[in-house]
Parts: sequence; C-alpha cells; structure tokens
Amino acid sequence: MSAPEALIDPFGRTVRDLRISVTDRCNFRCTYCMPEEGMKWLDRVDVLTFEEIQRFARICVERFDVDGIRLTGGEPTVRAHLPVLVDKLAQLKRANGHTPDIAITTNGSTLRNVADELFAAGIKRINISLDTLQRDKFLAMTRRDELDNVLSGIEAAKAAGFTPVKINAVVERGTNDDEIVDLARFGRDSGIEMRFIEFMPLDAEQGWSTSKVVSQDEIVARIAEVFPLEPVPQRGAAPADRWRYLDRELGTPGATVGVIPTVTKPFCGDCDRVRLTAEGQFRTCLFATREFDMRVLLRNGASDDDIANEIRAAVGTKWAGHQIGQVTFVRPARTMSQIGG
Ligand code: SAM
Ligand code: SF4
Repeated sequence: MSAPEALIDPFGRTVRDLRISVTDRCNFRCTYCMPEEGMKWLDRVDVLTFEEIQRFARICVERFDVDGIRLTGGEPTVRAHLPVLVDKLAQLKRANGHTPDIAITTNGSTLRNVADELFAAGIKRINISLDTLQRDKFLAMTRRDELDNVLSGIEAAKAAGFTPVKINAVVERGTNDDEIVDLARFGRDSGIEMRFIEFMPLDAEQGWSTSKVVSQDEIVARIAEVFPLEPVPQRGAAPADRWRYLDRELGTPGATVGVIPTVTKPFCGDCDRVRLTAEGQFRTCLFATREFDMRVLLRNGASDDDIANEIRAAVGTKWAGHQIGQVTFVRPARTMSQIGG
C-alpha cells in the first residue's frame, strides 16, 4: 500500500471522518426530521450494496487515511444484516495498520436485540437519540410509542460494552426545552454524556424557524443553574462543545455534557467530515447543495483511481461553512434522514 494522501479542502481542513447513511428508511417519524406520511423511499436497487459501501470506504481509508466512519441513516438498524457491513468495515486497515474507528448513530429502538451483535462486529462507539423522558411527549415527537424500548436499548448498549455511549437530544423551543435539566440529570445518573443539539433547518415539514432554536448559551445556562458547569477545553473537530459538572471529575462516567451549536455557533472552521448518502451521493457538508455521484462510478466499472479523483474533486469544492441565519442560506433539497445526520 502506498503512503496515504491527506485529503485537504480549499480552506486547509483535512477530511478524516466519513459518515455513511446505510438507509433512508426509518421506523420513527420524528417531527423535526420526517413527515408522518408520504416520505418517498429509495428503490432498493438504488441503495448501495454492502460491497459498494465497503469499496468506497476502503478507498477513503487506504488512499486518504480517513480514520473515523460513522453509520447513520434514516435508522441504520433497520437495514437488514447491518452487522455484516460492520464486519466488512472492521476489516479495513489504515496505512499505520489500525482499523478506522467505527461508530453508529441510532434511535435506539432495536438495540435491545442487536447491541451485542453490532459491538461484536466492530462498532465501538454509539450515539443514541432521546429527546424526552416523558412517554406522551416521546409519542408526540417521534410519532411512535417506543420510549421504553429506547431506554432498554440504552441499557443494552452499556451492557454490550460500547464506549462511550452518548445520548443526542434535539432541543425544540416549546416542545422539549422544559426538559433540558431533566435530560441532563438523566445523563448524570446514567453515567452517560448527554449531548443537546440545536434544531437545524433540515426537517421535512419545513417547520423550522429561528424562534424554535434554543441556543447553546441558553441550554448551558439552564443546566448550570441546577448543576454548576465549567467548559472543557477545545473539542478539536468534534461537533460538540463540552462542559464538566463541577461536582464530577473529568473522565468519570456522566461527568460531562455537550452541546452541538450548529445554528448559533457554527463550528465549520474545524469540520473534518464528508458524507455518503444511502444511494451513493457524496456530500462535503450536511447543508451542501451539490452532490457527487459515486454510485455511477461504483456501478460502471470505474477504477479506484477514478473514484479517488472524484473524491478529491468533491473535497475541492467544500465551502467555508453553511450560512444558516443569513439571507444567502439555501436549504438543501434533501432532509436530514435523506442525507444521514
Ligand atoms: N435515526 C438515527 C437517529 O435518530 O439517531 C440516525 C439518523 S438521525 C437523522 C441523526 C441525528 O440527527 C439524530 O440525533 C437526530 O436527532 C438528529 N436530527 C434529525 N433531524 C434534525 C434536525 N432537524 N435538527 C437537528 N438534529 C436533527
Ligand atoms: Fe428516524 Fe432518526 Fe429521523 Fe427520527 S431523527 S425520523 S429516528 S432518521
């Protein structure tokens, strides 16, 4: 294997992290993501096969030393035989001989059944989405009565050995912002890092407005009133800013809380991520309006060199950052579940 090439965008950021959507389908219908009905799913033939995904990921890992892969969707665990894909990805080797770090973002509803298998196949880190601890509100937000299954999924993930287990909560004003402190307490009590996400304009029903965004500053202030906090120094390329509870020691379970401030404090300057949609469209930003068709290359006899060239070309178009809140912002045609959050 020849020495890997750094994949550097026009603003000097090195791409290190590949987010792969394995399906656009989902067993939930979260209001901030999908409509209740009428979502048009991809035809199965249009979705990349495991072999195609593995080949694309191999090129990213071997040629460009991508060291992190996160599986997402839609809901990744609804893709049949997902552990088979994980196993294939876990066989990839970077130039230094190390396997890339493989992670997953899931709504947690099936984890009580699949956590052990996913862990054994090679996923080590997991983010589980949980926006509320109240059953009625869970039903209203996800349109599914699955709170108990998600809570048991969180326990299953801990028992399986994922490290760390993190919980993601999208905060929407007037919907679940009254639970910020309760969710923070849940993270502390469960020994899990709770990460609050600012609501982003990627919902299918276009209900997003700035008035529904609860800012990082407000989230942190509300938690700190009850559980005093101090910032944890620099997050690097990770999307979350983190704080330590003053009564907990860094490194102990549940000692920190994170906030992903995409809207009010964009972290684009540190972004090291690229994305592959379920049907093989390559995107250099969650909010990108341009995509690069990798499926056509994967299915039409392109060589690894051809695909690497297209990846390079795409990364050459990565912009400095999204412009949410500015008049120049253009909503991407795809919604969160169609991109892979
Ligand atoms: N289905 C999985 C899940 O919900 O964890 C993975 C895919 S989901 C699109 C990935 C993450 O995006 C989840 O944490 C979800 O809460 C978040 N998300 C979805 N729509 C969002 C929005 N409009 N604003 C902010 N976060 C959003
Ligand atoms: Fe499904 Fe995740 Fe979107 Fe909710 S946020 S509808 S669980 S893809």
